[in-house]
Amino acid sequence: MPICALALSMVLIAGCQASSVIAQEGNAVSSESEQPEWRLVIHGGAGVILRENMTAEREAAYTAALETALEAGATVLRDGGSAVDAVQAAVIPMEDDPLFNAGQGAVFTAAAEHELDASIMSGAERDAGAVAGVKRVKNPILAARAVMDQSEHVMFAGAGADVFAESVGIEMVDNSYFDTDRRRQSLERVLRERVRNDADRHGTVGAVAIDQFGNLAAATTTGGMTAKAAGRIGDSPLIGAATYAQNGVCAVSATGHGEYFIRVAVAKTICARVELAGESVGDAAQNALDQVAELGGDGGVVVIDGNGEYEYVFNSKGMYRGMIDPEGMETAIFEQE
Ligand code: ASP
Repeated sequence: MPICALALSMVLIAGCQASSVIAQEGNAVSSESEQPEWRLVIHGGAGVILRENMTAEREAAYTAALETALEAGATVLRDGGSAVDAVQAAVIPMEDDPLFNAGQGAVFTAAAEHELDASIMSGAERDAGAVAGVKRVKNPILAARAVMDQSEHVMFAGAGADVFAESVGIEMVDNSYFDTDRRRQSLERVLRERVRNDADRHGTVGAVAIDQFGNLAAATTTGGMTAKAAGRIGDSPLIGAATYAQNGVCAVSATGHGEYFIRVAVAKTICARVELAGESVGDAAQNALDQVAELGGDGGVVVIDGNGEYEYVFNSKGMYRGMIDPEGMETAIFEQE
């Protein structure tokens, strides 16, 4: 390691360890650090989301959906529940809402099916679970959670992932459950014009949270990209690409052009920069997204650190996003808000 980096990390380790200790001791948030008692931050996908293309009704529907997800997660955190339960609780209503590209309302593959990806990570022990390419799990985040809690593995893919989910009692549906007219029209257009625009993927959902005991967690679910090849897996189910959580450091959930997010290992890169270079989550996220942009990709992240500091960072024209803590709730959609 270059001397400057070594010196920098030695200075920073002191700060990082301090916050780790807070988390490990399970202390509620200390008023000295002005940490929120708990906090949840969510996204519902990033992309070219322009005010001029959005009707008032649609904007209101997205805002209401974000509020529903925030409230679902906050209910867990308010009652002293865990960050990992909260991110799961926030993701489920977005998976169930056809506005998003997650469960129902997910995009179609080129084979006119749906293949869903999800991952979840708990920062306390860095436990993680993920599923890729599931076709029959109603709520993919529950399958990811079951992989984490009920298997010795971190990731299941394809038919085996569906079989595993069914074997642990998770609700299964026919693949047509995920169909919506809007996504079918997108598929037909992409197959006809052979061009995928950015709206053909956005709507991935995700959440990060800190609970009353300082634990961090992250979760992400997606249907991927319209007309993706059967078997294509993006960043969303990959721990370290779209999802990462490490107590005392940071939690990240990402959305965007998955191939680029995988190549930059966006979520882990952000947390490594926070941990080793002492950057704020905002600076670290900006750095990682700059790397994505250099390679030609776009998208965004929600990030939170071990003190509850949070940021939404995106290099696209908008991102469905929101935050809730004991002080209140906020939501936003467009670039300038
Ligand atoms: N990251 C997702 C994927 O590439 C898509 C998105 O987040 O917009 O599958």
